[in-house]
Amino acid sequence: MFPMLTPEQIARLAVHGQVRHVQRGEVLMEAGEQTPRFFVVTAGHFVLVRPSGVTEEPVAVLQPGQFTGELTMLSGRRGIVRIRAGEPGAVIEVEREHVLALVHTDGELSEILLRAFLLRRVELLAHGVGDVVLVGSRHSAGTLRIQAFLTRNGHPYSTIDLDRDAGAQALLDRFQVTVDDVPVVICRGEVVLRNPTNGQLADCLGLNAAIDHTQVRDLIIVGAGPAGLSAAVYSASEGLDVVMLETHAPGGQAGSSSKIENYLGFPTGIAGQELATRASTQAQKFGAQLLIATSATRLVCDRKPYAIEIDHGARVLARTVIIATGAEYRRLALDNLAQFEGVGVYYGATVVEAQVCGGEEVIVVGGGNSAGQAAVFLAQTARRVHLLIRSEGLAASMSRYLIQRIAETPAIVLRPHTEITALAGGDHLERVRWRDTQTGGSETHAIRHVFAMTGAVPNTHWLAGCVALDAHGFIKTGADLSPEDVAAARWPLARAPYLLETSLPDVFAVGDVRGRQYQAGGVGGGGGLDCRRLRASGAPRIGSGRGCLEEPARISRSHDRFAILYGMR
Ligand SMILES: Cc1cc2nc3c(=O)[nH]c(=O)nc-3n(C[C@H](O)[C@H](O)[C@H](O)COP(=O)(O)OP(=O)(O)OC[C@H]3O[C@@H](n4cnc5c(N)ncnc54)[C@H](O)[C@@H]3O)c2cc1C
Repeated sequence: MFPMLTPEQIARLAVHGQVRHVQRGEVLMEAGEQTPRFFVVTAGHFVLVRPSGVTEEPVAVLQPGQFTGELTMLSGRRGIVRIRAGEPGAVIEVEREHVLALVHTDGELSEILLRAFLLRRVELLAHGVGDVVLVGSRHSAGTLRIQAFLTRNGHPYSTIDLDRDAGAQALLDRFQVTVDDVPVVICRGEVVLRNPTNGQLADCLGLNAAIDHTQVRDLIIVGAGPAGLSAAVYSASEGLDVVMLETHAPGGQAGSSSKIENYLGFPTGIAGQELATRASTQAQKFGAQLLIATSATRLVCDRKPYAIEIDHGARVLARTVIIATGAEYRRLALDNLAQFEGVGVYYGATVVEAQVCGGEEVIVVGGGNSAGQAAVFLAQTARRVHLLIRSEGLAASMSRYLIQRIAETPAIVLRPHTEITALAGGDHLERVRWRDTQTGGSETHAIRHVFAMTGAVPNTHWLAGCVALDAHGFIKTGADLSPEDVAAARWPLARAPYLLETSLPDVFAVGDVRGRQYQAGGVGGGGGLDCRRLRASGAPRIGSGRGCLEEPARISRSHDRFAILYGMR
């Protein structure tokens, strides 16, 4: 985490910076400063501290040859720690843009800096050393939402659990917080937010850099799941000016996966969150800009450059657009479902949810890979996992390795021909009724946690008729566009749409949001099914897509990259 630079390496950095002499106790950089700066220590020692009220918590001490900075240096977000001189000394101060340029051009320094930045962020996360205190209850959907938002965005935070911490009430009284205001977020030690939206929290923490709304970008990517992230890495590394818009956090659905085992290059598997962090770091290293808690609400497609409206009515302009908005789990058809979403019904099985239901019985609904992974993951902490599927078995919808894992896990009970018919409870889910569709028999169980992982609905509602969709609402591209689609769209060019191009020139679609002739049951489930069907059919795998993680990465490596470049010519 704190490597020592050689004199030669320091000299290469010094060219881009200036020497600064400091007195004992002088603050080099304040926690929360808008634009992080980078320092290499050349004399004296410097302490990194986390300000906490009027006191300071020491985080690390830097000696000559060592340097400051962590992931915020790449993302441009506010720094988390205060840097103070422990004695009279000197540093070389380098502006962030010079550090970014060096990371691009100096392979040796790039490796040292990036590794240290990543390791430091991991350490901050592990110890909850951040600028956010979350005061909430494990039984509140808002608390879970904010925990998930911070975790998925790799932002360190500490928590005060109202159900366990007797002193917490005194803290709430101090801020005159009522029960309805929970969760409360204390942001940068200064601002108290009561049950904030993800956008308000992102603003308070300065998670998004300001963007110039008049500037026309080479490329806007909507959605930062695996497909959007890989498109960002390849387009930014080609020198394009790229902005990514993301409603929640980088990683998309894959970000909520506990372990992905079929992703190229990770033979022992990789957690979805880790994959997302690595990919977004890589994209930002090449200069792609990521705006989180920012949804595209409309594509304005009647003139060029294209405009994308975002949450607050603002617009971003681009010559080229990649739609990578993926798909979302279908909601269970139950009248009172909304009452229990986040407080008993979940759409992702991450560490956050696993902690909430540890030691209890849980239900996972769905027969696809995502449901299988969730069941295996939850079985590590839950007392029992009931895996409910409508069909008679998993073979048609789940990868073989997962079926094997499930069979070998005694805590998982597979319940074929079964569907949930009712949910009951008060502030939290308390009981679930399910029905055997073959016998018609119903049972009610005191189960407080249901993980819904069934079929997928594409996130295309914001496209407002701009591009041709298939019967299920997925986007048609390239050869999937019929002559009628092309005619209806008044395709203006002499050439046909490229492989990943929609019915609108220079607007591309990648990943799960893209339709194709092989329809499948769902995201994870569809994933297993699609990949295997395609392999069996011998169809070219470029045509695959939904639910198959190999595809977004592989496509971006080859076709997206060229499609984007061709699209711009
Ligand atoms: C628990 C789980 C485990 C899985 N395991 C595997 C596996 O092991 N192997 C495998 O191959 N596949 C697996 N999958 C499926 C895999 O994750 C998906 O196929 C993959 O994530 C699709 O990538 P994508 O980028 O196309 O879409 P997504 O991952 O769905 O990402 C789309 C992104 O777009 C954002 N977005 C949507 N609308 C907007 C908007 N209007 N504005 C801005 N942003 C928007 C969303 O917030 C999201 O982050 C799993 C899925 C889950 C849920």
